[in-house]
Amino acid sequence: MVKNRKRIVILGGGYGGVECTRKLEKYFKNDEEVEIVLVSEDNFLLFTPMLPQVAAGMLATRHIVMPIRTILKKTTFYEGRVKNIDPYGKIVNLWGTKEKRGISLHYDFLVVSLGSETNFFGMSDVEKHSYTMKNLNDAMTVRNRIIDILEQAENETNPILKKSLLNLVIVGGGFAGIETAGEIMDFLLDARKFYPNIKEDEIKVTVLEALPNILPGFSEKLAKFAHNLLTRNGIDIKLKTAVTSFDGNEIRMKKIKNNSDEDDFEEEAIQTKTMIWTAGVTPVNTIKRSMFKTERGKIIINDFLEVQDFPGVFAVGDCALFIDPETQKPFPPTAQLAEAQAKIASYNLYSLIRNKDKKKFEYQSRGQMAIIGKRNGVASFFGMNISGIWAWALWRNVYISKIPKWDKRLRVLLDWTIDLFFDRDISRLKFVDKETSKEYKVLDEVDDVW
Ligand SMILES: Cc1cc2nc3c(=O)[nH]c(=O)nc-3n(C[C@H](O)[C@H](O)[C@H](O)COP(=O)(O)OP(=O)(O)OC[C@H]3O[C@@H](n4cnc5c(N)ncnc54)[C@H](O)[C@@H]3O)c2cc1C
Repeated sequence: MVKNRKRIVILGGGYGGVECTRKLEKYFKNDEEVEIVLVSEDNFLLFTPMLPQVAAGMLATRHIVMPIRTILKKTTFYEGRVKNIDPYGKIVNLWGTKEKRGISLHYDFLVVSLGSETNFFGMSDVEKHSYTMKNLNDAMTVRNRIIDILEQAENETNPILKKSLLNLVIVGGGFAGIETAGEIMDFLLDARKFYPNIKEDEIKVTVLEALPNILPGFSEKLAKFAHNLLTRNGIDIKLKTAVTSFDGNEIRMKKIKNNSDEDDFEEEAIQTKTMIWTAGVTPVNTIKRSMFKTERGKIIINDFLEVQDFPGVFAVGDCALFIDPETQKPFPPTAQLAEAQAKIASYNLYSLIRNKDKKKFEYQSRGQMAIIGKRNGVASFFGMNISGIWAWALWRNVYISKIPKWDKRLRVLLDWTIDLFFDRDISRLKFVDKETSKEYKVLDEVDDVW
């Protein structure tokens, strides 16, 4: 064992965590005195921008995930869920699962990149009855649900129930909501040919957005283009509309009449059996329960991305609060931001260990892109606004190049090509998740604390 070995522990195998680990591997390539450990509950990196395409059956599930062990070389990987972080004792405790023992990991330096989960803004009925679009399980569940709706509606003799079944509502007009709405509409229209009793005009997809426009972060012109195109494709977009409840049969909402006065509203309702909630994210509970100082659930960090009161602890991505100096508002949570922060956090860790100067985090977005249905998209890229088929092609090029493994790139390309010539697969695959987290005793012989 190498004497004075320092251990860097990274929590979270998403965009921020994996990018940070990759950079640290480069910085400490031949350094035996630095040990790098990555902990994540899934053993893969999920390519979230392609989730709506999995939900719509265009891409196969496994093709948008990269096994972490195939991306990293020098890192020790633990597949496990973080239970809690003790920044005073410098210890991270993991939950046990059925077969695994609980584990405690000591660290000298820590990077927290545990991401976020769906935010229901305290509406427990919405949480109970709605579908979400945050992870792979969500995308597979939504795909199954859409096929299930078609199967049920095809033989439904009650017209009210049939209408309610074929009325899909997506809440949230951001990236996830708009891309999901576009993909789902395409899927429903493509699959319809196998369901002769369902007419095109019986299918309804609605997007509800509380803000006065969709796709915040895009220019007004691009957001308008996307809005008009989605409407032309049959998607109904209701702006300034906030959901107040959903019981599995009816969504109740308030339509704000006046921009500046939230109390001036009308109550409205939609009958539906399926609501997909993409209206916001909030950091995971592990962060909220932690000893780190948080605001709006996010960890407060300084200009060097270090956590307040804990030198040597960094936070990046969706779980970290970083204020845009221009707007004085937090940056929107994106993969691009998580990766940019991961680069600086890893450099600053390297600087700490090598006694060099740290760098301040300064962020300039390279642009944003969204796919809005078949061969259509919007993109703002290095100051240029692009829409239509060119934006769609750009989206595909950029995102395919971002997939870190060649075999997965080819699989995605193949799926896209097959989708051009063949019908979508409408087999509904049933799956049951039996795994539950259990607390197991930390045994001495695997105790990693030193
Ligand atoms: C449908 C959808 C589409 C999107 N499209 C875009 C897009 O087009 N462009 C863009 O820039 N961004 C997009 N985003 C946002 C982007 O995915 C996130 O901002 C980004 O993933 C944040 O990276 P992160 O590392 O902070 O968190 P994540 O990537 O979420 O990673 C967090 C990791 O931590 C793990 N984890 C969480 N809790 C625990 C725990 N207790 N123990 C162990 N591991 C844990 C998770 O499993 C995950 O692997 C999209 C998101 C969604 C859901």
